[in-house]
Amino acid sequence: MERTLAIIKPDAIKHADDILYAIEAAGFTIIDKKRIQLTVDQARDFYVEHAGKPFYQPLTAFMSSGPVMVMILSRADAITAWRTLLGPTNSNAARESAPSSIRARFGTDGQRNACHGSDSPKSADREIRFFFPNATVQPLPNSVQ
Ligand code: ADP
Ligand code: MG
Repeated sequence: MERTLAIIKPDAIKHADDILYAIEAAGFTIIDKKRIQLTVDQARDFYVEHAGKPFYQPLTAFMSSGPVMVMILSRADAITAWRTLLGPTNSNAARESAPSSIRARFGTDGQRNACHGSDSPKSADREIRFFFPNATVQPLPNSVQ
């Protein structure tokens, strides 16, 4: 099983129950989850790969504007499967090309797009540790977990 980090962003926290239902219906196990509010410094640190881009400042303001739900999800091929369930980054584009995706259903636009998902195994490791410093390392493929 692979793990990924998911975040229900502030715009979609009101849809948390429906999003959790969609996550479980897609075969993910929620290993851990917590509802928190990021400081702007935590949001800047989490999204540091985007520092300097025009959307960075508004993104970090948005992500620290209200509560979020951070979660470790587990499933075969979890990273890709979660990003597929999310749909394209821009919720308006998602409504065109992936109308049943989470970003189509619960997001608004290119910034307020309901949820985050790690984009690679390396990002997933970093992002899981960012929010869950005590999380165990990714299990080996044949380990019993
Ligand atoms: P993803 O979340 O799909 O991996 P990115 O890593 O490229 O997308 O961007 C991180 C987040 O920054 C996006 O989820 C979205 O909230 C915001 N964002 C990305 N591109 C834009 C943009 N062009 N305008 C406004 N916000 C954006
Ligand atoms: Mg990304």
